[in-house]
Amino acid sequence: MTAARYELTGRTAMITGASSGIGAHLARLLAQVGANVVLAARRTDRIAALAEELGTDRACAVAMDVTDEASVIAGFDAGEARFGVANILIANAGTSHAGRSTEIAARDAAQTIDTNFTGVFLTAREAAKRMIATGTRESEKGRILIMGSITHRLHGMGDAVYAASKAGVAHLGRNLAREWVRQGINVNTIHPGYIPTEIQGDWYQTPGGQAQIAGFHRRRLVEMEALDDPVLYFCSDASRMVTGCDMVIDDGQVL
Ligand code: NDP
Repeated sequence: MTAARYELTGRTAMITGASSGIGAHLARLLAQVGANVVLAARRTDRIAALAEELGTDRACAVAMDVTDEASVIAGFDAGEARFGVANILIANAGTSHAGRSTEIAARDAAQTIDTNFTGVFLTAREAAKRMIATGTRESEKGRILIMGSITHRLHGMGDAVYAASKAGVAHLGRNLAREWVRQGINVNTIHPGYIPTEIQGDWYQTPGGQAQIAGFHRRRLVEMEALDDPVLYFCSDASRMVTGCDMVIDDGQVL
């Protein structure tokens, strides 16, 4: 019963930031449960290789810079030409420039906001326009899942702009959920704790990174697979009556 409710055969998911880390993992996950997946990122060699791995009958790669409106529209057009309108968006693309705020360059702060906040807005807006035009109001199958971060609840961790971008995107998600509540589009946000990916570089191999892990209550990082069930829930019919929700998945790191 539960497994059947997570079935996504016949659905199409646009996943931004699918070239590495969480996005690539979630692309594999959604393909496994039957979805067609549109893999979006700037590093097109990586998403092309992932599309090959998943099977080109099931996956396609589209170039997209989420900070650039024209690129977002072109990426959605390319995905739509291949698999039809995406009725699932995972707005996952993100970036981070860690460091004390007194040392963060203005261009790095702007890039963080452009990617983590404006990028989510532009992709959610594009996804919703297309979903509404193809009848999500009747089907109630529109799903937008935003990748937040546990940092939206933390202070002084050396990534103030990043943390604020994630707090902003969670509030954006709740507002979009309200705007589209009568259009059959559910908008939810998940907030993962710390998962080792390329976004932190080699931080967790350094003494500082090891000390951070030792400071977590369970002395460990979050496993990527901890996201699987929540993501399937939010993308599938199982979450038909859930919108405007924030879910923290952090192994208690923030408690
Ligand atoms: P990665 O660095 O592995 O992945 C980041 C992804 O974002 C890449 O695929 C990258 O693709 C893409 N991206 C960055 N900028 C752009 C852009 N301008 N346009 C399109 N794509 C872009 O890190 P994660 O997998 O860890 O990060 C994925 C998401 O998860 C991010 O939003 C991050 O903030 C969030 N997150 C991560 C946590 C962690 O501990 N790892 C914890 C909480 C949240 P490309 O460079 O090819 O364009």
